Amino acid sequence: MKIIFLGTNGWYSTRHANTSCILIKTDNFNLVLDAGDGLYKLDKYIDDDKPVYIFLSHLHLDHVIGFHILNKFRFKKPLEIFGYIGTRQGLNTLLQHPFTASIEELPFSLKIHEVNEGSHDIPLPFMSLLLKHADPCIGYRFSIDDKIITYCTDTGECENLYLLASNADLFISESSYKPEQVEWEWPHLNPETAAMIAKRSNVKQLILTHFDAELYNTPESKVEAENRARRLFPTTIIAHDDLELKI
Ligand SMILES: [Zn+2]
Ligand SMILES: [Zn+2]
Repeated sequence: MKIIFLGTNGWYSTRHANTSCILIKTDNFNLVLDAGDGLYKLDKYIDDDKPVYIFLSHLHLDHVIGFHILNKFRFKKPLEIFGYIGTRQGLNTLLQHPFTASIEELPFSLKIHEVNEGSHDIPLPFMSLLLKHADPCIGYRFSIDDKIITYCTDTGECENLYLLASNADLFISESSYKPEQVEWEWPHLNPETAAMIAKRSNVKQLILTHFDAELYNTPESKVEAENRARRLFPTTIIAHDDLELKI
C-alpha cells in the first residue's frame, strides 16, 4: 500500500503546499482523505480501473474546495464520497451553479454516503467518531490489508482521538499550531500534543500534516515542529506535498 500526500496545508494553499488531501493506494481501491486543493493531482497517481472512495473529515473549505475541479476527471467507476451527517446537503449546495458545475453535469456518476459515529464494513472496515472542532468533524480508523490507519484532522485533544489512534500502525494527525501554542476557541493540535497522543496510544508511526498556512509559511518552519514531536515520539514524520510512503 502506498500513501501519497497531495495537500498538506490547513486553511489555504501556498506556493509550497496545497490544502488537505491524501491518497492511499491499495490493491483494490483508491482511498482519498479529504478534498482540499491538492485533489487536482489525483489523476496523476490513481489506477483508473479501481474505485475511488473519498472520505471527508468535515465541510470546511480547506477540505472540500478541491471538488471545484471534479469535472476534469474521467473516473471509470462511480465516485463514492463518505462524510458525516449533513454531507449530502452541504455538497449539494456547494457543487452547484453559480459556484461550479453541478453534480448532474459531471462526466461520471457520484454517490454520497453519510456515516454516523460507529463501526462500518462498507466499502471497507472502518470506525468513525466525532472530534472536537468548530463544526462537526469526524476522525477515521481504517483497517486495510491487516494495517490500522487512523486519520484525525481539525481537532483539539479529546477522548475520541485516543479511541481512534489506539495501537494504530499509522496515525496521520493534524499539526496546525506551532510548538507550545495553546488551544483557543477554534480547536487544533500542536506537534507536541499530537506526539503525546501517539505515544500514549501506542501507535507505530506518526505523520504530521495539515500545517496552518499562516503559521508554517516556509518549509523550514516545520523543522522545529519535527524536532519537538520527535523528542516525545521518535518515529514522527513531517508530511510535505508529494511525499510518498510505503507501508
Ligand atoms: Zn482544516
Ligand atoms: Zn476545520
